[in-house]
Amino acid sequence: MHTSSGGIRQISLGDPILGQGESDALRAVIESGWVTMGERVQEFEQRFAQLHRQTDGVAVSSATAGLHLVLEALGVGPGDEVLVPSLTFVATTNAVLYTGATPKFVDIESLESPMIDLEDAARKLTPRTKAVMVVNYAGYAPDWQRWREFCDAHKLAFVEDAAHSPGLAGSSRWADAAVYSFFSNKNMTTAEGGMILSRHEKVLSDCRLLRAHGMTASTLDRHKGHVSGYDVICLGYNYRLDELRAAIGLTQLERLPKWNQIRNRLSRRYRDLLPERLRVPFSSEIPHTAHLLPVVLPPQTDRAQIMQAMREAGIQTSVHYTPIHRFTLYRERFPGLSLPVSEEYGSRTMSLPLHAGLTEDQVDFIVSTLTRCV
Ligand SMILES: *Cc1c(COP(=O)(O)O)cnc(C)c1O
Repeated sequence: MHTSSGGIRQISLGDPILGQGESDALRAVIESGWVTMGERVQEFEQRFAQLHRQTDGVAVSSATAGLHLVLEALGVGPGDEVLVPSLTFVATTNAVLYTGATPKFVDIESLESPMIDLEDAARKLTPRTKAVMVVNYAGYAPDWQRWREFCDAHKLAFVEDAAHSPGLAGSSRWADAAVYSFFSNKNMTTAEGGMILSRHEKVLSDCRLLRAHGMTASTLDRHKGHVSGYDVICLGYNYRLDELRAAIGLTQLERLPKWNQIRNRLSRRYRDLLPERLRVPFSSEIPHTAHLLPVVLPPQTDRAQIMQAMREAGIQTSVHYTPIHRFTLYRERFPGLSLPVSEEYGSRTMSLPLHAGLTEDQVDFIVSTLTRCV
């Protein structure tokens, strides 16, 4: 939690919590001699699915890989358009580009609710629109039911980018597929890794096929003597998760509900202490996993200067996010695109430290430091 740099105690933005449990789990895998695609991966898939009231999942090497697979499994490809927010991590829309489809950028609702806007999505529908990617920004639950109705009305696939929200009640229930991330700064980690959940057996089985080269049988199946050979029936990838990571994941998963509670409590404390001019977006009533603690700075504030002052006080801050359509790759592909609300939010937002290892005293210190800076 604290690292010493130049004598200043640093409070980091987000820290993984790893300890004896993870070490023991890793040692057990090493001693077993079976290091990838074995029973721990299967158990991790099932336990993670159960937490979200699904029957099974598909573990993958990252959420980015998972998003790519579900888009393919849902039939998204060249010539199709996918409605996406711009206020998200770039992996969300890179996954669309991998399939050969075109991301169609949608603005957010407002500075108070920086979630992909359904009205703007409706305006951006074309006969080529094939799917929607809804991101649970900062871990907050969007109105999934409204998106489900929208997708049904327009015959679109509904993908939930749930990278910020493992363990969120209702997540994966409405979408055709939901994808979670276990990167090191997420609510739980396997260092690198991700998970696909879906209500559709066919989506899961297609993702399983695509995850491992399009092969009809896994190494484990063959090892166990279930089958002797295999066929390759489509162009797949190597997006597998290994046993070591699954073992860490199983250990982390047990503590996830508790960690999400701690994050929620800290997030509420921030809301209670921050002054009116430093607003935390979203109503505190919306269920969330408190992945991020973004604030919206007053207009005309010099954000870089505030971030520098916070750094000097030993507090790490960040920006979630620079809207994707402002990055060079996307600016060149989609020139002249304007999303005024995302742009204003992106220029005024700043994320404060939030993780399950943070203390209430540290939150108080962060709030008083920020209040002094602004
Ligand atoms: C982290 C993140 C991803 C990508 O996750 P990886 O597991 O690192 O590939 C995708 N979408 C969002 C919104 C993220 O925050």
